[in-house]
Amino acid sequence: MDYLQEIKEIREKLEYYSRLYYDEDAPAISDYEYDMLNNRLKELEREHPDAITPDSPTQKVGGHRSEKFSPVTHVVPLESLADIFSYEDLEDFIRKTDAALGGDVVYTVEPKIDGLSMALEYRNGEFWQGATRGDGVTGEDVTENLRMLRNIPLRLKNAPERIVVRGEVYMARDVFLAQNARREVEGEKLLANPRNAAAGSMRQLDPQVTRDRQLDIIVFNVQYTSGEQPRTHAESLDMLEALGFYTVPHAVFHTVEECCAEVRRIGEDREALPFDIDGAVVKVNDLAQRAVLGSTSKAPRWAVAYKYPPEEKPSVVRDIVVQVGRTGVLTPKAVVEPVRLAGTTVTNATLHNQDFIDKLDVRVGDTVIVRKAGEIIPEVVKVDLSRRPAGTVPFRLPDFCPECGSPVVRDPDGAAVRCTGVECPAQRLRTLIHFASREAMDIEGLGYSLAEALVNSGMVKTPADLYSLDAQSVATLERMGKKSAENLIAQIEKSKEQDLSRLLCAFGIRQVGQKAAKVLSRTFGSLEALENASPMELMAVEDIGPITAENVITWLQNEQSRHQIRLLREAGVNTESREEKRDNRFLGQTFVLTGALTKYTRDEASAIIESYGGKASSSVSKKTSFVLAGENAGSKLDKARTLGVPVISEDEFEDMIR
Ligand code: NAD
Repeated sequence: MDYLQEIKEIREKLEYYSRLYYDEDAPAISDYEYDMLNNRLKELEREHPDAITPDSPTQKVGGHRSEKFSPVTHVVPLESLADIFSYEDLEDFIRKTDAALGGDVVYTVEPKIDGLSMALEYRNGEFWQGATRGDGVTGEDVTENLRMLRNIPLRLKNAPERIVVRGEVYMARDVFLAQNARREVEGEKLLANPRNAAAGSMRQLDPQVTRDRQLDIIVFNVQYTSGEQPRTHAESLDMLEALGFYTVPHAVFHTVEECCAEVRRIGEDREALPFDIDGAVVKVNDLAQRAVLGSTSKAPRWAVAYKYPPEEKPSVVRDIVVQVGRTGVLTPKAVVEPVRLAGTTVTNATLHNQDFIDKLDVRVGDTVIVRKAGEIIPEVVKVDLSRRPAGTVPFRLPDFCPECGSPVVRDPDGAAVRCTGVECPAQRLRTLIHFASREAMDIEGLGYSLAEALVNSGMVKTPADLYSLDAQSVATLERMGKKSAENLIAQIEKSKEQDLSRLLCAFGIRQVGQKAAKVLSRTFGSLEALENASPMELMAVEDIGPITAENVITWLQNEQSRHQIRLLREAGVNTESREEKRDNRFLGQTFVLTGALTKYTRDEASAIIESYGGKASSSVSKKTSFVLAGENAGSKLDKARTLGVPVISEDEFEDMIR
């Protein structure tokens, strides 16, 4: 490939990955892979300087400004940092800098926090405005969101009239893990990593969302001050600390050896920091010397960011264990001989799922390559087949949950294998939250926090335990008053009368959501009838496919399910369909509703159609049996007429259901 073509292709790739990373907070490749592509581009541009254009990713600060926020022009541009990836490069940087400044240079070394860069302006000691880096010159006004950070000083002590500081907003690692644990249980999309989580949380229009994400800020630079001018970087950090900011940990060094040792130490100790770092920053300490060196179009010449590469090392698989997650997913993990990787001793590496194990053919006894990149969980990347001992056997996930012994089922559209036990201890919280949720038993007030408190206190182990709770014990939980405890008990009591369809949905059987639960409830009329139904009878039900039918049967046959059902019955929970028994007069017929109906809401009309065995659909086709048209019906009515589909009025519909 000629170099121009290669440059063009790399630039396109970098632009594409940057968009995903900066604008959507959903990186598609690792930072290391991104940095390596960027490095290749720098190399090509160095060899062919004529190919450099001002819009090349090597020449400008990454990131765009969203129109969602008002623009803020930075008082002093927010530059990026030049990256280096080896100690030789660091030595090179220090040697050149020493030479340019005539020797006697002091350097600071600091961790490079992996978050989102921010400029904060204070006027007369009050927090006045804050903005993202944006393109380095103009950022986004996120003042209100910044006010929501846990540790931002809104008032400074003994502040100059005007001061602008630069810092990094981040999500602490423990917060990130807790937020994802919660998201997992609530079935929400997981946050990709703490950096993207912080960036996504800052660029929310609702500051309340930012508050809930529990972010912090660490400040690492004075951009501008109308007060006393610091002479060194270390002095400015002391000044920032005295003003009330949390500042970056730092120390000063004189020699290449000292700087390299400190960079290494920060890398090795990084797990002890509460936040993720993606490198260490080495900076010239003296601000007058910095001014002499100046900046390129993108980054200062007086600093470099040493990026820690992902580390890989061989190890031996001692065992493969299976863990059951809070959503019941079985995850295989390799227990490996301890290896030091990226600052931690690694003894476990994820094997993701059965498909992953099959692809690599990982077996107990194998020598494998384990990788850890920054915050990423260590994983097995390769098996060294040449070192496989005799007598190893392929690994298979068990057919029964290692926590509770229930059968497992595989997601029809994915690689995940899940436990089906409604009483499985690993899934307690998730089972309870789902049981009480709005689409299931609809127990108002029983959300995540309360469910967690009930489970942690040991009061509730399975959903049926809810029905033996009393207000007095509930009131002993943290943040629970007498009144709210009584309300909760009343809501639980009320849920006993819910329709069977809600109870079926609450069981959390795979593939049985609200819709399938309604069909089953309507068809069988009672839980008892469903329990006695044969596989053939289940499969014959319209809208219930063979996989769903099998899941229902597996679930109902499980000892734990039978135990729960018995307890729920004893507690007086309704197990009958409350829907009026209706005939199947609309069986096989599809209705489309259009225009403004006056006698029913759309949901009510659809429910009636479904209760008579029919279907409500949203688009008209030749297969549509009737279009029920209200006032001001538009294109659907026209289409029905063109296709010759019978159109009925609300009165005619009433006649049909009489
Ligand atoms: P950078 O993030 O590597 O370095 C500059 C940033 O470091 C500054 O904005 C600053 O806020 C921050 N920083 C943290 N601690 C600091 C400290 N102590 N002192 C000074 N600055 C500190 O460079 P960049 O141009 O902002 O971002 C490019 C990086 O983003 C790439 O190197 C890559 O790793 C990542 N990226 C990844 C993808 C992907 O798809 N994975 C895509 C685009 C960018």
